Amino acid sequence: MTIKIIYLLGLGHSGTTLLGRLLGAHSEVVATGGTKNIPLFVHGRKSCSCGATSPDECPFWSRVEQALRNRGQSLATLESGYDNQKRLDHQALRDYYASVLEASGARAIVDTSRRRTYFSQLEKNPDLELIPVHLFKDPRGQHSSSKRKGRSLAHTIWTYAMRGRRVRGMRPLGRPVLHVSYEALCSDPQGQLSRIMQAAGLEFEERQLTEFGANESHILGGNRQRTDTSSTIRLDESWRRRLSSFEARLVMLCNGPGYRKTLALTDQGR
Ligand SMILES: [Zn+2]
Repeated sequence: MTIKIIYLLGLGHSGTTLLGRLLGAHSEVVATGGTKNIPLFVHGRKSCSCGATSPDECPFWSRVEQALRNRGQSLATLESGYDNQKRLDHQALRDYYASVLEASGARAIVDTSRRRTYFSQLEKNPDLELIPVHLFKDPRGQHSSSKRKGRSLAHTIWTYAMRGRRVRGMRPLGRPVLHVSYEALCSDPQGQLSRIMQAAGLEFEERQLTEFGANESHILGGNRQRTDTSSTIRLDESWRRRLSSFEARLVMLCNGPGYRKTLALTDQGR
C-alpha cells in the first residue's frame, strides 16, 4: 500500500503554514510541517508547535520516534538525508512516513517542506503517492512579507519569477501540480480545500474550517500562524500600506505576467 503525501510547494510567507493547518484539521490527515526541519528539532534548534523543544518532550514526535525505532530507524539517523546533498534511500523515507501515519492514525500526511529538490527525491519512491499542491500569492503580498524580513525588492522579484517559472514547468511523474492562489484560499476556503481533498481522494470536512485553530497540532517550522488558536481566516492585504505605489507598480510590472500565467493554471482546474 502506498503512503499518501500532500506536498506543499511555494515560497516562504506564501500561506503554506495556514494551508497546512487547514488540511491537517481533517480527521484523516496529519500535518507535520516541513520534514526538512527534523534535524533542527532533533538538535533543539527548532520547536514543535506544541512548545516541545525536542522529540522526547512531544507526545506526537515521541510516538513517531518509537515507531521508527521499531523499524530499526530513528529521527536522528534520518536527519543527514534532509538536505540537498545527501539522499535518503527509499526504505528510510518509507519508514519515516509510515511511522508518522502509525503515530497519528491518519491516512494522509501534509508535508510543508516546499522544496522542489526534496519533492523530486520523494516522487521517485514507489511506496509514496504524492499530491503536489503549489500555493502562490499576489506578488505584491509576497513582496510585502519579504520586505518585512529585510529582503531587497530585486531579490524578491528574481526569486518570485524564477520559482514561479520552475513550478509551472514541473512535470511530476505522478499527479499534476494543483495550483492554489492564497487569495482564493482566503476568499473561498471551502472551494479551494475541496479541490485539494478531491485530488487526495478524501472528502472536505466542515471541521477543517471551524476547528483548524483548536485542532491539536505538532508542526515543525512555519510562522507564528502555526500556534494561532483562532479558526478565522483573514486575507493579509497589508501590502496596500507597506508598499509604496511605485513599489507596487514595479512589482506588478516584473512579476505580474508570471502571476497571471500561474492564475490561468488554476482556472484550468489543474
Ligand atoms: Zn509537539
